[in-house]
Amino acid sequence: MQEERPYWNMEIEPKLNTPEMKEIQLAKLKAMLRRLYDNAPFYHKQFDELGVVPEKIKSFADFSSAVPLFDKEGLRSMVMEYGGDILAVLDQIMPVRVDDLNIMSTTTGTTGIPTPYPMTTHDMEDVWGEAMVRGMWRAGVRARDRILFCFALSMVIAGIPTMMGCHRLGAMAIPVGAEVGTDRILLMQTLFRGTVYSGTPSLAEYLIEKCKEQGRDPKDLGLRVLVCGGEPGAGIPEVRKRLEEAYGARLFDAGAGYGFSCDYPEYQGMHWTADDLAFYELVDPETREPVPLEDGAEGEALFTSMEGDGMSWLRVSLGDIHQVFVSPCPCGQSGFRYKVIGRTDDMLKVKGAIVYPTMVEGVVSSFVPRVSGEFRIVLSEKPPRVVPPLKIRIERGEDFPADKLPDLEAEMKEAFHVKAKFTPEIIWAEPGDLERSTYKGQVFERSYEQ
Ligand SMILES: [Zn+2]
Repeated sequence: MQEERPYWNMEIEPKLNTPEMKEIQLAKLKAMLRRLYDNAPFYHKQFDELGVVPEKIKSFADFSSAVPLFDKEGLRSMVMEYGGDILAVLDQIMPVRVDDLNIMSTTTGTTGIPTPYPMTTHDMEDVWGEAMVRGMWRAGVRARDRILFCFALSMVIAGIPTMMGCHRLGAMAIPVGAEVGTDRILLMQTLFRGTVYSGTPSLAEYLIEKCKEQGRDPKDLGLRVLVCGGEPGAGIPEVRKRLEEAYGARLFDAGAGYGFSCDYPEYQGMHWTADDLAFYELVDPETREPVPLEDGAEGEALFTSMEGDGMSWLRVSLGDIHQVFVSPCPCGQSGFRYKVIGRTDDMLKVKGAIVYPTMVEGVVSSFVPRVSGEFRIVLSEKPPRVVPPLKIRIERGEDFPADKLPDLEAEMKEAFHVKAKFTPEIIWAEPGDLERSTYKGQVFERSYEQ
């Protein structure tokens, strides 16, 4: 196989986001619906009730209006119905049986029941792994690379399933895992000299601080490519710039579906690289009505599997709010693009303005190094409604003098007003006061829970 070819999968990837692909998808959709009807009791019953006949689905619009979406509320109520037996629920919604599964992973699910990602070897290698390898290839990762896996290796799909799925690329995996902590990660990197970092952007930022504490320059770690995901930071221009400069590496944003950002200097969102593996649609997060995919459209992302055993999803929401761009990307690569702008359960309403933590992060990041970049949104009532002003705890930068804070505060409030359409109350924290995280950065401080 030629190392220089533009795509990992030269048969499929040139066809992404084309009318030809739409036809392939429709045929695959019908086959998947038939398979679920015949093998997944939950869908058999649902299709009968709704009058869905797989072969009669003529378009994706037909499909979207016929089949309801499935989100974590739906999962939760099914799990309750089955007396907490999540395996029994999986046997209802999958076209294969629990006994056929080969690996289980889940969302991080910090509250309530985590959403399971049940997988057979086919799911891990040919669906999830295939999508990951397509992205890695676009990021320039090749067989000679060594990938330092710094996602948590406990349960999360970005950890072990991604690592095992990526073996097809032929690169060396270094499964260090976020759980071991930054000292051990740096030790393993020093010993085995990974060329690619795979982990959250907040851990990548934390590693910069750790390097500095040890008197090391992150550039000397030898990382050439950073593949970040699990949270939106890698799509924020200031965070990107900071990470790329600190490591002397190219940063790619991955996740929230089968997406990978491209090499174009300015962030263009993530290219959806897997039309043949999953169908993507947007709905209004409040009404759940379909939102047409056109440049700039925003909505809750839904995924429908075109392939898969355990992960055979029909209009599944993972709770992410995306903005899409369907016109060609200036980078020239195939696939429409999406940016993650928030999560349905992170959404705040501040006097009519919709605010997502990523917007706050974007503004705060643009003030580094005067601030450290760490922040917390202080919620005194259960979200989404916030009685203004929204309170944000922001950490002063290490070298920024405390007596200059009032001027900085005024400047930041103005930036929030212009960029995010609300004016917060800023509460200053001393450098290092806010706890760092090796996994997903914590953005909320819920004072109403204390
Ligand atoms: Zn691009």
